[in-house]
Amino acid sequence: MKLVLLGAPGAGKGTQAKKLMERYSIPEISTGEILRKAVADGAPLGRDAKGYMDRGELVPDSIVLGLVHARLRKGDCGKGFVIYGFPRNEVQALSLDKTLSTIGCQLSLVVSIDLDKKELMNRMSGRRICRNCGRVYNIYLLPPSKETLCDECGGALYQREDDRADTIRKRLDVYESLARPVIQYYSSRGLLKSITGSGSPEEIFEKICKAV
Ligand code: AMP
Repeated sequence: MKLVLLGAPGAGKGTQAKKLMERYSIPEISTGEILRKAVADGAPLGRDAKGYMDRGELVPDSIVLGLVHARLRKGDCGKGFVIYGFPRNEVQALSLDKTLSTIGCQLSLVVSIDLDKKELMNRMSGRRICRNCGRVYNIYLLPPSKETLCDECGGALYQREDDRADTIRKRLDVYESLARPVIQYYSSRGLLKSITGSGSPEEIFEKICKAV
């Protein structure tokens, strides 16, 4: 099962990818997470990427494509994966196909999670993440029982640098301007299933599973 989750920042791709990983025992791959880890580790690649990320701009394809290529070639992707935050533009979509064909496979399905801009803004500005286990909360929609701590592991919750108002707007604009050709690309190949991203995470998950 080789899945792509498309959707604007804040649409819930990360939450759904984690659920898919658990249900289907496949790895979840997020280019945003890979890049954030490279920044946190002080890796040279992270230093190159950080400025773009802080400004809410896309990191150049020359950095991102190599990362994805290397990740997909790891053994755990053999029986499938769910990737999100990628592809973000048409060049990345074409490159993904090429990478998959070099390892002898192709995408099974692309799910686009659609949500209006106002709700996306709410989701992103309320998003808090556990520093320890990565669980995602929303202080408005899915609050933790203790304001700043993870229910699951007690880890401290933090807000992503790029989840602040100005950067959020920029990220949504970038998504809108580049997503359409990607959506058209997958739609024309009969791979695309669009679902609405409003509702509880469980409701959305069921819709995705039906599509799968
Ligand atoms: P995300 O966690 O997917 O919202 O990504 C956070 C930031 O990482 C984005 O605003 C970009 O700066 C960068 N990023 C993540 N994925 C990509 C990608 N596929 N192409 C370029 N930049 C990306």
